[in-house]
Parts: sequence; structure tokens; C-alpha cells
Amino acid sequence: MYHIGIDVGGTNLVAGLVEESGRIVNKVSTPVAKDMTARQFGSELVRMSRRLCEVGEIAPDKVQTVGIGLPGVVDNKRGLFVQNPNMPFRDKDVPLREMFHEEWDVPVFLGNDANCAAVGEYWAGAAKGCDPVVMVTLGTGIGGGMVVGGRLFTGFANSGMEIGHMIIQPNGILCGCGGRGCWERYGSASALIQLTQLEMERDRDSQLWELCGHDPGQVQGRTPFQGARLGDEAAKRVLSNYLRGLSVGMINLVNILQPEVICLGGGVSSAEDDLLLDPLRELVWQGCFDKTNHTKIVKASLGNDAGVVGAALLHNLV
Ligand SMILES: [Zn+2]
Repeated sequence: MYHIGIDVGGTNLVAGLVEESGRIVNKVSTPVAKDMTARQFGSELVRMSRRLCEVGEIAPDKVQTVGIGLPGVVDNKRGLFVQNPNMPFRDKDVPLREMFHEEWDVPVFLGNDANCAAVGEYWAGAAKGCDPVVMVTLGTGIGGGMVVGGRLFTGFANSGMEIGHMIIQPNGILCGCGGRGCWERYGSASALIQLTQLEMERDRDSQLWELCGHDPGQVQGRTPFQGARLGDEAAKRVLSNYLRGLSVGMINLVNILQPEVICLGGGVSSAEDDLLLDPLRELVWQGCFDKTNHTKIVKASLGNDAGVVGAALLHNLV
């Protein structure tokens, strides 16, 4: 038997036919049209699911469940895509499960994308065998998900674990959410890029300038790591500041939840250990309350497939 997992992004939809072990059999993807309506979106998800069966030469009745990972607030109980800041349509409470069932009657599970990543790492990735597990995704913002007692934790009304908006600095940097001092303004990939650009303005001789072709607009998350590898002092200062901000949120997570493992995902997490994970582990250990029980901090292992695999396996944890 198989499961279908669909990873919904603002620009791309990726669907995969997945075995219970988490192994992906095949994948299809399609871009999100700029004028896509909620109804077209629902139909597109069904079309992709059918396509997966055709490509994999699998009868549709061999598909046990469909899981959909969505960028926004999701209500799995009621089958709703509640709220989204990232899709072309802005409708609230899109009845996604009902839409799917109009065309294909198969159990449908909905999850937030960061939660799906947590499910994937817990079931088939770097956090296998650990509990509780916290997933931290470093991207434009910081996404979070937690599995505890073998179940996905989503709070009482579906927006628990919005860890990117934990406030780590009173009256700090303004955040997209309207608040100030949110963790993602210090620890996300975007924050790292901004720190790099600021440091470049201060240090005109830094090798960071060469690394981005003398165009600060071309700075990427990897740029300061490349600079630090070359021994550039400005790049080292950027990383030191960034790691301090990133570690504060991690320390809070460890002190409040004491997860057995925290998985770091997103592009930034692919940096080499001596520049990211090693110093981060040291800062978190120094800053956390209980120094005897180490929460492991590891790289997520499913990479780009985390969304598809996690969505496909949602039925095990919700
Ligand atoms: Zn915020």
C-alpha cells in the first residue's frame, strides 16, 4: 500500500508516492499559476495525485491516504486550510478535504509545512527513535514543529509551535508579524543575509565583497560561511553575531521542552559543522539550564524531500 504526500509551496507543488517506510517511489511537480483560485488549487492537488498513480502504474485503490503540507495555518480536524500568506488566492478557511473528496474519496490529512517536516524527520529521518523531537527550519522565517509522545503537537487551535515568533529581544527588530524582537529576525536565513550586508557596509575591505560580485543584493546564506572559510574577519563577526541570536531561541526551546533532539533544516543548515553546528552546540550547552542532559542538535536528513515524506506520513501522527 502507498501514501501520497503533497508539499505545497507558494511557487511550486510537489507530490510524491511514498511507501510506509518513507521511501519515495516517484514524484511529480507543477508550478503554481499566479492567478490560481482556491478551487483550481484543490483540483490541481487531485490531478497530481492521479498522475502519480499513472506514472507509478498503481491502481488508485492502492493509495491509503493523501497528506497535504501547507504553508500557513491548517485545521486538520475540520479539513480546512485556514489562513495563508503565501498563495495566489487569499481565501480563508478553504475546505480542502471536502474539495478533494468531490473528486476522489480517500482519507485526506492536512498539516502545516514545518509540522510535516517534523513528522518526516521523526518517522524516516535524523530524529528516528527520539521523542520529543523539535524541528527548526531556517528559511525566510523560522518554522517549527514538534512530535511528543508519538503525536504531532499543534496547540489547541492549530497555531502552536510558531517558534519563529518567540520574542528574544524586547523592543527588538520589527518582524513581518507586526511584533518586535521575534527570533526569526535574528536566526533565519534572511536575518543572516541582512547581518552580512550590514557588516559589509562597515568593512569595505572584507572579502565578502568579492564573494558576492561586489553586489550586496547577491549575498546568500552561504556567503558568510564561504568568507569565514577564507579567514575573513568580517565574515567571522557575522557568524558570531548570527550564532548568538540563533542560539538564544534554541536555548529557550531546550529549557522549556527538553527535546531529545532538535533537527535543523533549511539551506543554512547545510553549512559545515565546524562553522555552524559545533559552535551552536557549545553556545546552547553554555546557555541552557540543565547541563547534564544534552539535547542533541542535528542536521535534518530528508532535505528537499522532508515536505513530501512528512505529508505522506501525517496519518501516523495526527
Ligand atoms: Zn514575528
